[in-house]
Amino acid sequence: MKNLDPNEAKRILVEKAGSLGLDPVGVAPVPAELRQDYFYKWLETDQHGEMGWMARDPERRANPEQVQPGAHCILCFGLNYYQPEPGRRGRIAKYALGKDYHKVMINKLKTLCKWLQEIGATNRPYVDTGPLLEKPIAALAGIGWQGKNTMVLNGEHGQWLFLGFILTTFPFPVDKPQQDRCGTCTRCIDICPTRAITAPYQLDARKCISYLTIEHKGSIPLPYRRLMGDHLYGCDDCLDICPWNKWARKTREAAFEARDYPDLRELLTMDDDAFNNLFAGSPVRRLKRPRFLRNVCIVLGNSGTREDLPVLKKAAMDPDTLIAEHAQWAIAEIEDRG
Ligand code: SF4
Ligand code: SF4
Repeated sequence: MKNLDPNEAKRILVEKAGSLGLDPVGVAPVPAELRQDYFYKWLETDQHGEMGWMARDPERRANPEQVQPGAHCILCFGLNYYQPEPGRRGRIAKYALGKDYHKVMINKLKTLCKWLQEIGATNRPYVDTGPLLEKPIAALAGIGWQGKNTMVLNGEHGQWLFLGFILTTFPFPVDKPQQDRCGTCTRCIDICPTRAITAPYQLDARKCISYLTIEHKGSIPLPYRRLMGDHLYGCDDCLDICPWNKWARKTREAAFEARDYPDLRELLTMDDDAFNNLFAGSPVRRLKRPRFLRNVCIVLGNSGTREDLPVLKKAAMDPDTLIAEHAQWAIAEIEDRG
């Protein structure tokens, strides 16, 4: 088994991954050429905002061979999470409609690691939290190309892919990167409400609604509040508009099925326990109640009606100043609209 032919091993790997719902599969070489210069400049100019973990140990992040000495390649796996928008007040990004993907993905990777171990390899699985530049690695592994919105774009699944990685010592044959097929299209750049895609392939995270609604901890800067529209958690605008994304099929992963949530008015009355129970197992839970209610207030400020005022007035008295201040802003916005 240990002398398994690398091409045969790859065939088995793709088959095993496919049976776990992991598709596409690609292999990137180590060491890897990973847009390191862009990454260092992005950090230097603070475009990562409050995502301090991105700036931790950047050398290691940009050079996977430092993460696991002796690694021959990085296996990259996609997991389709696409599903149609449920159509309710306040949009949650599609990747967060169901259960958090980290555990789902890591369990699949661990299953593959068991087999890799049997064929004599030493392996390290990563999902999001590891010190890897995930999108450039996925592009190098031929999973897709990085679109002008910086998301990895696969010709079949579009951009609705969770990514998982295994650093391995097994000498799998590496894949070729895919050709960039964005062409002259600029739809993702044009639609971005906050102009966060500052140039093709360049994203200023501090301006991105995904960052503002999720990573940003404090008050939402005033110039961004109206631009956030009805985005409650994350933003898919630059993905929804991408012509490649219209071919996507609904995910087969039951864990990602969209959950039902009450209307914004009811969400705004939740205490900590109610919030934690409602979002148990969901990525939304990491926001905690104050940041989530801050976002609810912004969405109501942008799209609510006078019928939402009583619940907002109650929120404006909340002892948490983050909630109270955003509720006051929302009340003023609704009253201004008459
Ligand atoms: S996720 Fe939304 S805010 Fe961020 S770059 Fe895309 S369209 Fe712009
Ligand atoms: S919208 Fe157009 S430019 Fe943007 S990622 Fe899709 S194909 Fe590329």
